[in-house]
Amino acid sequence: MSLSEFSLINKFFNVTSSAAQPALLGIGDDCAVVDVPKGYQLAISTDTLVEGTHFLASSDPQYLGHKALAVNLSDLAAMGATPAWVTLALTIPNVDERWLASFSHAFLALANKYSMQLIGGDTTQGPLSITVTVMGLLPADKRLTRSGAQCGDGVYVTGKIGGAGLGLLLAKGNKAEQDNEDLLSYLRPEPQVELAEVLLNIASACIDVSDGLAADLSHILKASGVGATISHAALPVTDGVRDYCQQSGDWQFPYSSGDDYQLCFTVPKTLEKKLGQLVAAANISRIGEIEESLGLRVQAENGEAVIINKGFEHFKGVM
Ligand code: ADP
Ligand code: MG
Repeated sequence: MSLSEFSLINKFFNVTSSAAQPALLGIGDDCAVVDVPKGYQLAISTDTLVEGTHFLASSDPQYLGHKALAVNLSDLAAMGATPAWVTLALTIPNVDERWLASFSHAFLALANKYSMQLIGGDTTQGPLSITVTVMGLLPADKRLTRSGAQCGDGVYVTGKIGGAGLGLLLAKGNKAEQDNEDLLSYLRPEPQVELAEVLLNIASACIDVSDGLAADLSHILKASGVGATISHAALPVTDGVRDYCQQSGDWQFPYSSGDDYQLCFTVPKTLEKKLGQLVAAANISRIGEIEESLGLRVQAENGEAVIINKGFEHFKGVM
């Protein structure tokens, strides 16, 4: 059975939820209209997931629905913004109601978790592609950027690094158990929304780790005009990633593999104690320090400082 575009939107996406900032006008008109509360500013970000580039063909829609929003929430988190509204531009090859039900259920469940409102979008026919735009609120004079890191600041990451990269290898090989933690962190990343709201008052710079830690931390270093040395021994990895690095001999794997959607941030020395008081030690790791000398160095386990390969870049070798 095929549904007209409008009844499709109403059936799967026009679902009322408990929005923290209800729009003045949501789905149904030519535009959505929202009010930015006094004393706040709007943070906006868009990310597209394309079949074959960002996810494997025939990916489970319950994971895609979650991930399409999660990767965008991760960008809001990296700025310290509180999620408020979201739009969804969905290009689908055909109207598959079971696919749509599963996708929209997962998407809206994550939106509800953070009291976000889906306020509009577009639905078109074509090769599967999902574009999500998120809007979040920041107190008027505040934001976490890439450019605030200073010499002596501690370098931190949340969660574990490299797991999603290994998860992708497992997904491609079709070998892993369904509850494998690395596979799940690839299929269903959890954005660090709550932590970001704490970091807004503590971190000097912040980025989310989407293209690989080496590439993303290098963005902070470049934007801030500084360098860093991180300690390989301090890098938090899962047992699976540790085993993989040992077996493959590729110890740089967690630095260059993407899709983790953890946060990498820097904290001035004077605020590191406060960070420790506000965030459970299990959720963050101090992996190194910001230095004057430009570039990213990793102190390997044998004590040698190595400059490591960067992460995943689209159009590499093309542009
Ligand atoms: P228009 O032709 O004016 O762009 P559409 O028919 O594309 O309007 O969309 C009708 C309404 O449904 C609009 O409010 C639009 O924002 C919303 N909408 C369309 N697709 C989606 C979607 N996938 N998710 C949420 N809202 C959507
Ligand atoms: Mg439209």
